[in-house]
Amino acid sequence: MTLDAIRTVAVLGAGTMGNGIAHVFARSDYNVILRDVETRFLDSAVSTISKNLDREVKKGKIPEGDKSRVLGRIYTTTDMSEIARADFAVEAVPERLELKLSVLREADKLLPPEAILASNTSSISITMLAAATSRPDRFVGMHFMNPVPVMALIEVIRALQTSEDTFHTTMALCERLEKKPVAVNDAPGFVSNRVLMPMINEAAFTVMEGVATAESVDAIMKMGMNHPMGPLELADLIGLDTCVNILEVLYSGFGDSKYRACPLLRKMVAAGWLGRKSGRGFYNYPG
Ligand code: NAD
Repeated sequence: MTLDAIRTVAVLGAGTMGNGIAHVFARSDYNVILRDVETRFLDSAVSTISKNLDREVKKGKIPEGDKSRVLGRIYTTTDMSEIARADFAVEAVPERLELKLSVLREADKLLPPEAILASNTSSISITMLAAATSRPDRFVGMHFMNPVPVMALIEVIRALQTSEDTFHTTMALCERLEKKPVAVNDAPGFVSNRVLMPMINEAAFTVMEGVATAESVDAIMKMGMNHPMGPLELADLIGLDTCVNILEVLYSGFGDSKYRACPLLRKMVAAGWLGRKSGRGFYNYPG
């Protein structure tokens, strides 16, 4: 698949990441088929995209008239068979291996043979996901950062099977989205989460052990290390359940105890304190 042949992009999953991914493709004039399992998730995604576009207009990032142009490019559906018209697909369903495998296998059957299938997984092996499809050479990791419309980086992950063509088309596509792609090879957590998650985990341990409060840990990392956000604020933004899931992938992928998830993170997830999305994590998010 060449870059210029890509016109229509399917986005599977309209949650935190999926709505942002649909937003940036539509902003760059791609036709988007946004698919989720229930209409209410799609409605909520469109309302988030609409609010985010208002913010972009206010900041002067896009002209006022562009809001309707971008929204007009996004077609929502609960019917998976509609993705058969797509030239490129990005999977952004929750970080659970069995779910991803089943969604990817279904997408693989429906998409045209030449279409490229990408996963936005944070940590699951791209090589393993590619092997579950009939197009392992046309499979690639496309790891967008949260919030997608704002963050420049896309970590592009080559599976062992990814062809040179697929890799180069995907890198060029990221540029078309006005993003900065950085290529890495497949390994648990890739680079971003392999480096980030141990820091978040260690920050949670310091809170659990009473070394410091969450506010103090974040203040130290922001003022002392020049991080724009503290690790615990960032964990709340990512979702504490997602953090635990990624740590589990690192732990099983490397078999190294340094990646064991902090019991405090597990306890908070068990309580339903997932961070911003549930209104409570290390911090409270009223409303
Ligand atoms: P989320 O829970 O916010 O959204 C997932 C969406 O997928 C939900 O709307 C859900 O209804 C939908 N879904 C479930 N089954 C589906 C199916 N069969 N077909 C279509 N849609 C389905 O999750 P998220 O935070 O957007 O994460 C999605 C992926 O992106 C995960 O792999 C995650 O690891 C990765 N990721 C997340 C972040 C982050 O900061 N949240 C950052 C980078 C990558």
